Amino acid sequence: CGIVGYVGKAMDERAEDVVMEGLARLEYRGYDSAGIALVTDGGVESEKRAGKLENLRGALEAHPLSGSRTAIGHTRWATHGGPTDGNAHPHHGGDDDKLALIHNGIIENFHSLKKELLAEGVTFRSETDTEVAAKLVGRAFDETGDITTAMQQVVNRLEGAFTLLAVHADQPGVVVGARRNSPLVVGLGEGENFLGSDVAAFIGYTRNALELGQDQIVTITPEGHEVINFDGSPAEGKAYEVTWDAAA
Ligand code: GLU
Repeated sequence: CGIVGYVGKAMDERAEDVVMEGLARLEYRGYDSAGIALVTDGGVESEKRAGKLENLRGALEAHPLSGSRTAIGHTRWATHGGPTDGNAHPHHGGDDDKLALIHNGIIENFHSLKKELLAEGVTFRSETDTEVAAKLVGRAFDETGDITTAMQQVVNRLEGAFTLLAVHADQPGVVVGARRNSPLVVGLGEGENFLGSDVAAFIGYTRNALELGQDQIVTITPEGHEVINFDGSPAEGKAYEVTWDAAA
């Protein structure tokens, strides 16, 4: 339902704070669960809870995640699988579960993809359509070593409506996002960049935004961003300045 992504330079708590604040600003959209993943020195850690953001906050206080410069966060409105801790996003995939992914929307052909993965021995921990994408992007990363390439390979196999964000432990300063029939906006900062399902996700930090077109993928690092189409050809988002009115 709501999506936030952040990458900055400092290994402090900013990534977690920015993402938790973004999720709070997206609460108005409604949701039944919330979760966050941080890329740390040791790998990728996530925490997720059914219920209000308060439940996630409580879990993070009880078991703090390590400082990080890269984070993604999600508020879920369940469509496939009930509103439980296990079905909340992020979902993980790839070797050692080093890929974490969040999703807005519905992957219409998840059933046939899941059947294919189950036949190959992949095990699932949720009933969501989303976990199929996590497993596929995780595996594509293991084969290609690059999160953007992995995302590009997988989105071409997915049908339906989706905004996807992913991070990987082996590419700690990168967040990749993709969209089809579901919105994704880039927030351009200085030495830090943002992703959101709408500008409310990062309005507290920057007014410089970039709207992605249909079937596009964006990769953000602290220094910049790059947009491509699902076929791999270079693309550009539509730049605009967010006014307070748009953020209200
Ligand atoms: N279809 C996904 C799920 O049920 C994502 C729902 C959403 O947009 O929050 O987990």
